[in-house]
Amino acid sequence: MSIYLDHNATAPLDPRVLDVMQPWLAGAHGNPASVHKPGRAAHEALEQARAQVAALVGAKPAEVIFTGGGTEADNLALKGVCAGAPKGRLLVGAIEHSAVLGPADALAKLGWEVQRLPVDGEGLYDLAALDKILAKSDVRLVSLMLANNETGVLQDVTAIAERVHAAGALLHSDAVQATGKIPVDFRASGADLMTLSAHKLNGPRGVGALIMDRRVDLTPLVHGGGQEQGLRGGTENLAGIVGFGKAAALAKAELTQRAAHAMGLRDALETGVRKLPGMRIFSGAAERLPNTLQFGIEGIDGEWLVMELDKRGIAVSSGSACHSGSGEPSHVLTAMGYEAAIAKGALRISLGFGNTVQDVEAVLKALQEILTARPTKVAAVGW
Ligand code: PLP
Repeated sequence: MSIYLDHNATAPLDPRVLDVMQPWLAGAHGNPASVHKPGRAAHEALEQARAQVAALVGAKPAEVIFTGGGTEADNLALKGVCAGAPKGRLLVGAIEHSAVLGPADALAKLGWEVQRLPVDGEGLYDLAALDKILAKSDVRLVSLMLANNETGVLQDVTAIAERVHAAGALLHSDAVQATGKIPVDFRASGADLMTLSAHKLNGPRGVGALIMDRRVDLTPLVHGGGQEQGLRGGTENLAGIVGFGKAAALAKAELTQRAAHAMGLRDALETGVRKLPGMRIFSGAAERLPNTLQFGIEGIDGEWLVMELDKRGIAVSSGSACHSGSGEPSHVLTAMGYEAAIAKGALRISLGFGNTVQDVEAVLKALQEILTARPTKVAAVGW
């Protein structure tokens, strides 16, 4: 038995996406910059993918800059804006992904004053604290995510954008986990820059995009042959980009049914989890992604539970894939006010459109079995 319930870490490549990628991996070999026929065909495929990605998030094709993934797009947003701005303050959220926290730390070493915006107990950004920080006039850029990868909690980016713009700063929003799961509209969100990643919506890994308002002054990280409107040099990963385009088109066409399917399964899962003794749902009272459930069980270590489920062929995670295995408590849960002991108990289940009711029943059954049979010595995690 093999059940995959870790789609927020990475989602399986959709066979329909693989189909359109194949010719660009073998056979079609034009460089989009070449003027000959194969080059023109490659250019056309590149621009079609750009239009497909733009359409998914209500952006213009010229606002899509393809990158080598979500991490690179986050780096491009933060470092690219700060490189062209007079030194000042950079505000990032306390529950951001390391793809945002990492470049913010790097900018701090270059003399930027970096502040972290706190969240409340449900994981929502504290807008009163935001107003206070913005009241000082030297905030240049704010980076706050749309949906959190661990809890799935959704932020009110439009309300945040209004505040950020009133203070004369720019807003970047990491929408990697939101796109393909809920409707995302770049223009309506008010964000100036937005990050996407193909593999979270059943596209290939290693390709993403920075969506950007063309009025933003962005300095490239990778200088080279002028590709991507001079903002990301290097011959394009055409197979990956074409796959991203197809994954975006499919996500747009199937969004409503995918979201309803995921929510039905997640709610059934949550109902079952709520019956487990000593359980606690993280961000349970907040608006969340339809596919995500993060919870903990009193006295149980999250990593241990992940391994026990793995022995039974069920793949879940204890938090962010990048940090699981580190033994460190989740920075998201600690920012929400949980003690390290509780944060280390977290288990994240993230569903995809390939999951079934049987998958949910199997994980609930496995959890019950594991908890009934648990040796007392694993009850090392206090609450
Ligand atoms: N931002 C968020 C919120 C993520 O969840 C991830 C991946 O886990 C990333 C950024 C990084 O994206 P990528 O894996 O494409 O580099």
